[in-house]
Amino acid sequence: MNPSASSPKGFQVSIVGGGVCGLACAIALEKAGVPVQLFEAAAAFGEIGAGIGIGPNAVRVLRYMGLLDAVLQKCNPGDLKPRGFVYRTGTGEHEAVYTVPVEDPNDFGIGIHRATFLDALVNFVNPDVCHFNKRCVSVTQSPDNPQRILLQFLDGSTHETDVVLGADGIKSSIRKFVLGGTDESIAFSHTVAYRGLIPYDQLQAAGFKTDLTVAPACFMGPSKHIISFTIKNNEIVNVVAFSANYKTPIGTENLPDGAAWVEQVSRDEVQKVYEGMGPDVKILLDHMPERPSKWSIHVVHPPLESYVKGRVAVLGDAAVLQVYSQIRRPRAQMVWERSYLMGRIYDGHGPHGMDWAKTGEDMDGMFPSVWHHDANDDVEAAFALLRERGAFPRVG
Ligand SMILES: Cc1cc2nc3c(=O)[nH]c(=O)nc-3n(C[C@H](O)[C@H](O)[C@H](O)COP(=O)(O)OP(=O)(O)OC[C@H]3O[C@@H](n4cnc5c(N)ncnc54)[C@H](O)[C@@H]3O)c2cc1C
Repeated sequence: MNPSASSPKGFQVSIVGGGVCGLACAIALEKAGVPVQLFEAAAAFGEIGAGIGIGPNAVRVLRYMGLLDAVLQKCNPGDLKPRGFVYRTGTGEHEAVYTVPVEDPNDFGIGIHRATFLDALVNFVNPDVCHFNKRCVSVTQSPDNPQRILLQFLDGSTHETDVVLGADGIKSSIRKFVLGGTDESIAFSHTVAYRGLIPYDQLQAAGFKTDLTVAPACFMGPSKHIISFTIKNNEIVNVVAFSANYKTPIGTENLPDGAAWVEQVSRDEVQKVYEGMGPDVKILLDHMPERPSKWSIHVVHPPLESYVKGRVAVLGDAAVLQVYSQIRRPRAQMVWERSYLMGRIYDGHGPHGMDWAKTGEDMDGMFPSVWHHDANDDVEAAFALLRERGAFPRVG
């Protein structure tokens, strides 16, 4: 299938997984003239889940990639707004305890349905390079050429390529290769998330008072918090209700083999988990769909030492990938750690515990390094490292 010999760059990149990351990567590579092939396990591109909040840093990346306008065309004016969060007590009268400062008025974020977002991206990928029903089951060195990589798929077919980018989600098959053959880096976070979409007017009719049109809200409570924001021009509210068990450290216990990571549960279950919380939370959960989805959140833990296994890249491109790992890994790890800490703060397990009025102090300064990070700085840093390593021919 598509040997690299015929490619104008002399090498070909194969992406495994056509979720948001795989698609975005395929688009970026095609735009840069790099021959790319994408292999997706499902029969078509698709996203499960409900809404997705896209932060200002990601909005900037969409703009750099020339995709923002296409995404905005699929949105409504009300979906693009300054992305400040308002944190409220989950119990009592939902007092606002902290508002993420909007430091730059151009710091827009987007609340959008996942399927709509994916639809906007799909139009930018050349359908000829997308292969569906291709579940990758193994990655090995090519027996014919040790510098190339052989992908094997569940249907028995194979594909030989030069560079493999694994974008196959949390249960990644590629990670096993990067780790050298065994992958024990996946752990249940002991947090579950209940998700649902609710028409905003139904909530308001029931007496819901929090204004979600201005900013997303996070209702914080004991070992649980609920995030809600609007999509579809403020018509629909996306609800993600988290509940965590902090007694069991991550990595000490996993779900039984074969247990579903996503399942439909009864609305009753959700209502029971959040019993005792304030009136708006009660209204939100009373209006959840009859069978909301419950996600057992898994994480990569302990963190990977590298995102790259050198010999995955051939034709001297191993250095390129190492630079990616060198630059992106510390940032990804920082985001991971901050997300974990923020989750603890929302659930009353941060430095100020359930002294909600003071939790703002714990959150202060947490967002800028995530939202104000400019991906172009990473690109510059990558070029500088590559130059240092002599990856580019000297001019003059
Ligand atoms: C409850 C919840 C809420 C979230 N909310 C947000 C949010 O508001 N904002 C945000 O930015 N992020 C959010 N996230 C995180 C976000 O959903 C993920 O980071 C993102 O979807 C990861 O994208 P991905 O492309 O890496 O993987 P995925 O979206 O998982 O895509 C992986 C793709 O690879 C395919 N695949 C899997 N295995 C194989 C294989 N062996 N061979 C070939 N193909 C394969 C799959 O079919 C899938 O299409 C949330 C996550 C959860 C669980």
